Amino acid sequence: MELEPLRDGHGRLIGDLRVSVTDRCNFRCQYCMPAEGLPWLERREILSFEEIARLVALFSAMGVRDLRLTGGEPLVRRGFPQLVRMLSDIEDVAEVSVTTNGFLLERDAAALVQAGMSRFNVSIDSLQGDRFYELTRRDALPQVLRGLEVLASFPEAHPIKVNAVAIREFTEEEVLPFAEFARRTPYEVRFIEYMPLDADHAWTPEQVLTGEEIRAAITAVYPLEPEPREPHATARVYRFADGHGRIGFINPVSEPFCGDCNRIRLTADGRLRTCLFSLNETDLREPLRAGADDSELEQIIRDAVWRKELKHHVGEPGFIQPARSMSAIGG
Ligand code: SF4
Repeated sequence: MELEPLRDGHGRLIGDLRVSVTDRCNFRCQYCMPAEGLPWLERREILSFEEIARLVALFSAMGVRDLRLTGGEPLVRRGFPQLVRMLSDIEDVAEVSVTTNGFLLERDAAALVQAGMSRFNVSIDSLQGDRFYELTRRDALPQVLRGLEVLASFPEAHPIKVNAVAIREFTEEEVLPFAEFARRTPYEVRFIEYMPLDADHAWTPEQVLTGEEIRAAITAVYPLEPEPREPHATARVYRFADGHGRIGFINPVSEPFCGDCNRIRLTADGRLRTCLFSLNETDLREPLRAGADDSELEQIIRDAVWRKELKHHVGEPGFIQPARSMSAIGG
């Protein structure tokens, strides 16, 4: 079934759907949630696998073919590889990828690759055990690195991206270790500027260590050369001039990439978010459970996407941080 491509009111074609499959997580990253965690959604509030698959099939029929599964931590959702198989089998879905903290990769990498998952983004903010613990409140770096190695043994899983959130007065000490990690391993490291999506609403612009500052620190030691930007890309990617790997910078605060944004998000409880920083959401779960047919759901989606925000307003006077934190939105 092919439907009219999904387009927003600014003429942008939507091609990328990020689906949060749970709000729960086994980590407690300081820039995301408090040590005690958050009040989790009840099971009945969360979309079932069948409900997710039905919505994904509808989105993909409208041309939204790149699917990223997120959380919380998606691998904590029971039966997650089964969901990946269901979504990979949807005819119009081109690619299924995941953003994970890697803690359960050692256990699940094989099952995920066999279920059709083709791209992996693993979040690691420090390569030093004590500092990893300080930020995530989990003594888990060795297990995450073992999971990464298991994943790397599957050729289908490459390129594997390692994402590090960049926070001033923390990440400076990680910059060269991550550059060397990118040079000696097959992983593509990307630094992501810290965004105002923390549960405590404690974010300030001063805490943002910009991509440009990090790039300058690296290129002073390991010269970098820019690669052409892919359409809709969030990262600015560079290769090491001596050919030893690539490194990227995702700079939503200092160098926003909203102009050709083609992304929308579905939360674990079935709300459509047209921007990471949306202050409004459209409920798809209620009409879905009330028996709406596909054309009714399609109309609700098109109306919402037509109102998609042109860009975010982070750092601008009057910016309002969304009520939902990153763990309840998904990356
Ligand atoms: S902030 Fe919103 S508009 Fe900008 S790139 Fe992200 S999702 Fe797209």
